[in-house]
Amino acid sequence: METATGSTIAVAPKPEGIEGAGFFATSLDKVVGLARKNSIWPLPFATSCCGIEFMATMASHYDLARFGSERLSFSPRQADLLMVMGTIAKKMGPILRQVYEQMAEPRWVISVGACASSGGIFDTYSVLQGIDRIIPVDVYVPGCPPRPEQIIDGILKIQHLVETESTRRRDSPEYKAMLNKYGIE
Ligand code: SF4
Repeated sequence: METATGSTIAVAPKPEGIEGAGFFATSLDKVVGLARKNSIWPLPFATSCCGIEFMATMASHYDLARFGSERLSFSPRQADLLMVMGTIAKKMGPILRQVYEQMAEPRWVISVGACASSGGIFDTYSVLQGIDRIIPVDVYVPGCPPRPEQIIDGILKIQHLVETESTRRRDSPEYKAMLNKYGIE
């Protein structure tokens, strides 16, 4: 779309549907998915070096705002994407889990980097060997540290999940059973 000043702005494509003169019909799932996908509010849970890569991802060169995610939330209640970046000590585990539990559904989780995903090089008694031991994870971003392009790739994968997720998934017995496995009600 061209603006009055001549700059071009990317417009999200409309979902599949049936259109004619003066009307457009599609399913609720697709409209909700489109809106959610382009307005993800991340909560950065950054504890170490991978968090610095995230800062670069937010800055002007990589500009995460292009994906509708420039509004970071430091309150779990106003966030729908938990981004865990860095080494998570076992002492930090309960805090991470509390943050996850305070987020309202629907919520998604990205594990950024080797430390968050598997403990990374810190195979020690004090480091959690992957955040998926305490909370469910939707997308893993590999690397130590991952480059901003990889973090953006993780965001795009989350966007795909968000866009295609059924609005009923969170009420399904399978989803509840998955949370129950983590001891989350
Ligand atoms: S994965 Fe590497 S860069 Fe990221 S927090 Fe761990 S040690 Fe640091």
